[in-house]
Amino acid sequence: MSIKYSVIIPVYNEEKVLDWCYQEVKKTAEKFDDVYELIFINDGSRDRSLDILKEIAQKDKTVKVISFSRNFGHQPAVSAGMKEASGQALIILDADLQDPPEVVHEMIRKWKEGYDIVYGKRSKRAGEKPLKKLTAFLYYRFLARITGLNIPKDTGDFRLISRKAADAIISMPEKNRYLR
Ligand code: UDP
Ligand code: MG
Repeated sequence: MSIKYSVIIPVYNEEKVLDWCYQEVKKTAEKFDDVYELIFINDGSRDRSLDILKEIAQKDKTVKVISFSRNFGHQPAVSAGMKEASGQALIILDADLQDPPEVVHEMIRKWKEGYDIVYGKRSKRAGEKPLKKLTAFLYYRFLARITGLNIPKDTGDFRLISRKAADAIISMPEKNRYLR
């Protein structure tokens, strides 16, 4: 059966939250209307993250694990997940669940309307300190200014991308990628 949805989750030293993350993502994925896969990329964690992921993958055949020999960083981990993904819609989520997985259903609705990229946007930054809020606010404005691009403001890595968009990204070979 062909896979429709690929959920991509980069993981770096997340032993404390991984089981919880898996359960929450699984709950969300179970409500999808079609076949899905959950791809975890262990980005050279120094804690028990890889062991936990292996245990999860043994019990759940929808789970795939990629593991890096050392820490390469968030973006290479996401890139590896995208290459591995075989779904028609790719969903990128953080392991710490700072992005609520339920929102994915809404993203899928937008994808079905024909959008190739659906960003999750933070409506508020609850629990973050004023300095982080300010620097984040300035960062997105500065980024738009220096690149001259209309980059969606206050968005993170939380997004859905279509197979078409993913193939375009994968076809570009650069290593130091920055996706916003
Ligand atoms: N992450 C990763 N490699 C790294 C750092 C982070 O794969 O070198 C993962 C991390 O486990 C999480 C996501 O990338 O799932 C976002 O990381 P973090 O929560 O530290 O970023 P922030 O919330 O500050 O944007
Ligand atoms: Mg985080």
